[in-house]
Amino acid sequence: MSLSKSQLLQQVKREIVEVTADQVHRDLQAGKPVRLVDVREREEVMDGYIAGAALIPRGFLELNVEDEVTSDRGAAIVLYCAGGNRSALAARDLKQMGYTDVRSMIGGFKGWKDAGLPIEQDGLLSEDDMRRYSRHILLPEVGEKGQQKLLKGKVLLVGSGGLGCPTALYLAAAGVGTIGLVDADVVDKSNLQRQVLFGESDVGRPKVEAAKSRLHDLNPGIKIQTHFELLTSENAMEVMAGYDIIVNGCDNFPTRYLVNDAAVFSRKPVVDGSIFRFEGQATVYLPSQGGPCYRCLYPEPPPPGEVPSCAEGGVLGVLFGIVGLIQATEVIKLILGQGRPLVGRMLVYDALDMKFRELKLRRSAQCPVCGDHPTITDLIDYEQFCGLPSHRDAAG
Ligand SMILES: [Zn+2]
Repeated sequence: MSLSKSQLLQQVKREIVEVTADQVHRDLQAGKPVRLVDVREREEVMDGYIAGAALIPRGFLELNVEDEVTSDRGAAIVLYCAGGNRSALAARDLKQMGYTDVRSMIGGFKGWKDAGLPIEQDGLLSEDDMRRYSRHILLPEVGEKGQQKLLKGKVLLVGSGGLGCPTALYLAAAGVGTIGLVDADVVDKSNLQRQVLFGESDVGRPKVEAAKSRLHDLNPGIKIQTHFELLTSENAMEVMAGYDIIVNGCDNFPTRYLVNDAAVFSRKPVVDGSIFRFEGQATVYLPSQGGPCYRCLYPEPPPPGEVPSCAEGGVLGVLFGIVGLIQATEVIKLILGQGRPLVGRMLVYDALDMKFRELKLRRSAQCPVCGDHPTITDLIDYEQFCGLPSHRDAAG
């Protein structure tokens, strides 16, 4: 017996159950446990799909349905394709696998869209991004979903200096979709020893501008937002508002306290790093997850009279790369929600001994900003003064 295409489809549609787009929409609105499966090919799905649908091309459906949708043979499953034919064939195959409540959506995605029902449009990576991020996507802990999270990530780098440069390079390469840069300096020749975003031809340019050119060349698919200014109590909340994670690579007390307080007020993590001579350290301040903030450790800056003069100290340039990339790693982990962040822990790196050690950090109930009875509720502009070695604050 031979069947034409239309005879086969007629026969299949008699064997399976079909459902209208409106009915599927009503069931989803009513919170019914319907599992939607989009069986179209990847290029078709790029133009849009129904929110919550699992995306499994028809050719992989039988192979992947148990892992990616459910192995429960009684689960309510609705399949859709572009117009309702491939999903009908797919429904027959799932029925054969023993699934008892499978329906094929009449009219497919086109019918759904024509009915004016809501669709998702930015859910899939382009072919170009699939290639660019293939080494991420191959990792089960990242995958296409994780890469999408990275592309939706919004990270503010405070300081485009020694720490900000390597952090920015790797975050841009990793595809963190929005990177903000705050820095009021221009590139100086003495920066080139460690600030790897810049070259000889950038000397004299604002750091944020030079950084933007370099990062865009590395990854044109992400957004670089520049803030060519100093952070102050006036603008800090506004600048930080557009970002989910703050990376601190600043080299002075006023900014460090400002960033800390603004981040505590807005409940955003601060991925912190600092360098002193041959030693580096990194931690994540996130009091809402149990760790301390910077003020839990250093409640107030020391009086300006007690700190050394502003003469610049020497520092080993490569250390910035090591600590900056620890910061970049923590940012990526936070965005992906993978691993154990450096919350409540400080990683201390000694380059001369080539040793890492870890210090436990505790939140203080008496902390003036994140403690039980905070006394600081507004941002404070401290006077510009220089760092004490004990604060390990020579981060520039
Ligand atoms: Zn605190």
